[in-house]
Amino acid sequence: MKNLLLQSLTVLFCFHFIINYESIAQTKPDKLLLKNFRPKNIYNVPVTKIVKAKYPIIDIHSHAYANNKEELELWVKNMDEAGIIKTILLTYAHGSEFDSLINFYSKYPDRFELWCGFDFTGYDKPGYGPAAVRELERCFNKGAKGVGELGDKGKGLVYGNPPAYGMHIDNERMNLLLDKCAELGMPINIHVGEPQWFYDKMDSTNDGLMNAYTWRLDNQENILNLDDVLKTLENAVKNHPKTIFVACHLANQNTDLVKLGRLLDLYPNLYADISARYAENAPVPRYTSAFFEKYQDRLLYGTDMGFEKSMYETTFRILESNDEHFYNIELFGYHWPLYGFGLNDKVLEKLYSINAKKVLLKK
Ligand SMILES: [Zn+2]
Repeated sequence: MKNLLLQSLTVLFCFHFIINYESIAQTKPDKLLLKNFRPKNIYNVPVTKIVKAKYPIIDIHSHAYANNKEELELWVKNMDEAGIIKTILLTYAHGSEFDSLINFYSKYPDRFELWCGFDFTGYDKPGYGPAAVRELERCFNKGAKGVGELGDKGKGLVYGNPPAYGMHIDNERMNLLLDKCAELGMPINIHVGEPQWFYDKMDSTNDGLMNAYTWRLDNQENILNLDDVLKTLENAVKNHPKTIFVACHLANQNTDLVKLGRLLDLYPNLYADISARYAENAPVPRYTSAFFEKYQDRLLYGTDMGFEKSMYETTFRILESNDEHFYNIELFGYHWPLYGFGLNDKVLEKLYSINAKKVLLKK
């Protein structure tokens, strides 16, 4: 019996070996798939390891990632080591779901700040608004200090429960809520669009194909294109000048930051967070750092990528160093190399916390 077991284990092992061998053989260059491309940097160039950010940080874009008390403790430890003084949790939630999140994070009231979602129940029925405003005020009284993450990739405000398909941020049904945010001093974090590659044709000319194909929008019906969904944000920002809006992920204008710059020039109540769009801009470091320099009073540090130490370190390396041609395909999904922006001290300090303090609700 024992022998038989050993034999079958040996067979299994060999089989495993054969499979591996075959999969290695399959990666001959003429068979290699883009998704399996894992180049390694062999340039002998500086490698900067930045464990702690140069200035204290407020992370304006994160989510309620901790699943239990141990993870919460680990997160706080990682924040301490990385130099994150406070993390904003965009919960999307309202009602009892929001209340239980407030309870869970209440052990660290100075380290975490929770923002709630809007209640879109009945958004497509006449009379939508007053009940949602009451729920917003209830969340505010429970401790919500902002609203987010709202999200519209072109089909409506679908982040949250229930999703509001077909209703964009500039819809008049949103007016009561947006004005109430201004009255309460609650900023709104909103995701509009996605990087341009996600809307483009999925073919060999699509530079961002690896992520674009996963999150493709080119095959969706009833969807606004990137310019048109950005326009819905512009309308809302313009019509509600007392409401503070944070367009997350650089408003997904990574490949044409001029379009975001135009809005920042026109509307003082608009800010942008840089979360989860490091890799999208790291191939063009000089273009990006010039943008950060020009709009240094309006950009906010954010992550949106969990709470691992290595994740924080990667963001610091991209923002602070001048490192060249390094990869992090596991974190970002793109096949291309990254380049540090080498931001100067003044820009870094504003990005890391000074600008966030202008946006956050004053206690
Ligand atoms: Zn997010």
